[in-house]
Amino acid sequence: MPTDRLTIFDTTLRDGEQAPGFSMHVDEKVRLARQLARLGVDVIEAGFPIASEADAEAVRRVAAEVRGPVIAGLARCHPADIDRAGLALSPAARRRIHTFIATSDLHLARKLRMTRETCLDAAVAAVRRARRYTDDIQFSAEDATRSDMDFLCRVVEAVIAAGCTTINLPDTVGYSTPDEVAAFFTAIISRVPHSDAVTFSAHCHDDLGLAAANTLAAVCAGARQVECTVNGIGERAGNASLEEVVMATRVRADRLPFTTGIDTAQIFPSSQLLTELTGQAVQANKAIVGRNAFAHEAGIHQDGMLKDRRTYEIMRPEDVGVPQATLVLGKHSGRHAVRRRCEQIGVTLEPQELDQVYTAIVALADREKTVNDKDLAAVVARVRGGAAAAPAAIVPTAVPDFNSTPAEVGYGHGV
Ligand SMILES: [Zn+2]
Repeated sequence: MPTDRLTIFDTTLRDGEQAPGFSMHVDEKVRLARQLARLGVDVIEAGFPIASEADAEAVRRVAAEVRGPVIAGLARCHPADIDRAGLALSPAARRRIHTFIATSDLHLARKLRMTRETCLDAAVAAVRRARRYTDDIQFSAEDATRSDMDFLCRVVEAVIAAGCTTINLPDTVGYSTPDEVAAFFTAIISRVPHSDAVTFSAHCHDDLGLAAANTLAAVCAGARQVECTVNGIGERAGNASLEEVVMATRVRADRLPFTTGIDTAQIFPSSQLLTELTGQAVQANKAIVGRNAFAHEAGIHQDGMLKDRRTYEIMRPEDVGVPQATLVLGKHSGRHAVRRRCEQIGVTLEPQELDQVYTAIVALADREKTVNDKDLAAVVARVRGGAAAAPAAIVPTAVPDFNSTPAEVGYGHGV
């Protein structure tokens, strides 16, 4: 019987790393793998050993130096790939060979120039060969969601019989919708004999922005492994983002009653480390880990946040390792946010000072877009006719309780 515990298979170092602009050196991969272990992922896919010497070395180093998660290496259904992966993974305490072959007629005919029968034989032979190195074997049917259902079921049945333990069914081109993915997993799990003996896995790409939704749809239909990456990096538009899938199960446990081994407080540090290692910034509005994910500029939102965070916050920033929510001072901010931000840098304003500071901040924000703590301190100093006060450490203060007018709250979008 499937349990409600999801296996988090992280492929940041393989699918993520192969995306343009995200390549990492061996030492950097080991550093990120250590952080993934702290994050609590169950499986780290460390690379594709046959692809290059450096990839093989990265898998070997991660296998030798990182303890906790299972370490996986990717291999096509070729004997040389399997042997290379088996060798690179040999130092791991727990190792997995992940072998794959495309099963859709389009890929078979146009890319591999292979018949269905040859494909099936290659898949079975690869799984058998992988068993020389480990009992933990994952098979992926590339382009599974566009494969013929009868043929796909035959392949899955055959690799299970050959000793495969995890069956991954990728939406390789990010073409599926959540209802299709759910029906697809339901059909395969119900049709394939002994499907309860293996773990089914989802690997969804984000070409239509549906990767996390499709992944969760697969889970609801019986998949118990999810393949994902930090910051959602990966081929083309990327993979399902680890932070989105995990936090959806945390925040909406009422609809998605699944647990993971993830220490969510390590989500933001993992995102930051990946950004540091690759030099690739996360888009500001990215869910969970983007710069704006917990920032509130609209005055109506800021006012609500100051009174009760739950008005505009469905999860606490500290739960994912973000130091605190940010009240961004901009032209949409109101007096409440200006007063609070001043309190956070150690300045208590008299009512008439607040008016003057507020007016100056709005004027400054028109030119500068946002106002940082240093700007705020300078404005306060100007209003008071003294030197700029250095911003102090930001400390939470009590929420003021007074009736709000638009001038106090500020403007900006309320929805
Ligand atoms: Zn992929």
